[in-house]
Amino acid sequence: EQKQHFRPTKAIIDLQAIKNNVNRLKNFLPPNVQIIAVVKANAYGHGDIEVSKAAIEAGATMLAVATPEEALHIRESFPNIDILVLGYSPVSFVPYAAEKDISLTVFSTEWVHQIQTKTELLRPLKLHIKIDTGMGRIGVTSANDLLNLYEAISTTSNLIVDGVFTHFATADEEDDLYFNKQVMKFEQLVNKLPQKPRIVHSANTATTLVKDQHLLFDAVRFGISMYGLAPSSYVKTKLPFPLEAAFSLETELVAVKQLEAGQSVGYGATYTAEKTELIGTLPIGYADGLIRKYSGQHVLIDGIRVPIVGRICMDQCMILLPKAYNIGEKVTLIGKQNNEEITIDEWATRVETINYEVPCIITSRVPRIYL
Ligand code: PLP
Repeated sequence: EQKQHFRPTKAIIDLQAIKNNVNRLKNFLPPNVQIIAVVKANAYGHGDIEVSKAAIEAGATMLAVATPEEALHIRESFPNIDILVLGYSPVSFVPYAAEKDISLTVFSTEWVHQIQTKTELLRPLKLHIKIDTGMGRIGVTSANDLLNLYEAISTTSNLIVDGVFTHFATADEEDDLYFNKQVMKFEQLVNKLPQKPRIVHSANTATTLVKDQHLLFDAVRFGISMYGLAPSSYVKTKLPFPLEAAFSLETELVAVKQLEAGQSVGYGATYTAEKTELIGTLPIGYADGLIRKYSGQHVLIDGIRVPIVGRICMDQCMILLPKAYNIGEKVTLIGKQNNEEITIDEWATRVETINYEVPCIITSRVPRIYL
């Protein structure tokens, strides 16, 4: 039922790799700790529905997204799984969340009052209280605010405190100073609650894989390493089990031309041949997420690394070829050919960002094809 694609540029998503990563995590975790698969932002660019299905099959019992829209999209395909919106949901979404049994993050007493005065809750709405222990993003920051919030929620029988959680800012770093301050604050505040909610959770991937086991609490939020990527170079050296990358990016040569010395390539004529050279054209550009900063990045053709030369255009880019290849020759931008591999981490380093950002910004024009 997959749509027909004519342009050869595609992201290949290895769902077995995702299942293997979740499976290995499941074996690593104590049996009472649940796996929340973090599938926000279209599953970090990998495809929310397909990744959710793979994660659930491998043992995840809850899905986490960032926005109401993402939750609704996933609910269409998964009528029964627990879904948590980690980010802000406006009060206008509350009736839909209750109707669809989507759990929301709560951090404002004012927001609870608005629900109580403006909406009629016909069904229970599950809430996870967010405690801001040091991200400075969303969440209650003091015991007072936490207890006021809890009390406000308690006055409405259809509002259920199902969870309480926090998020760590430096879990992927070796230095534990700031991390430990966040841990202390979280434990202090959670202990102030009159009743322990069903699911206490704090751990992102980094915390799960390299920090103390007691921080796993009732569930872990498994994001980046579900996709086979390490949260940081530090965590990469400490992984308790191997990870398998799930994302490859491929295209094909659509043109090959010979440049004579002095001839240039692309906008601004920024690359000039010094001798007779062969240039290949690829049907992928910055509107696909191959931002112009990736100029110079290697790609694989025939198992060999060759650079992207000149400025990357909106829809195309050019590479330097070691010899003439036929139109249609496979080119791998991310992934393996023979013994060579170009990783998402390599792309991230080239443009001075983190691996998370790389698949997220491959735009929807690039079809995701599932293995
Ligand atoms: N929890 C929250 C609240 C997040 O915002 C994120 C992602 O940014 C995650 C968990 C998942 O983090 P990671 O991908 O590092 O596992």
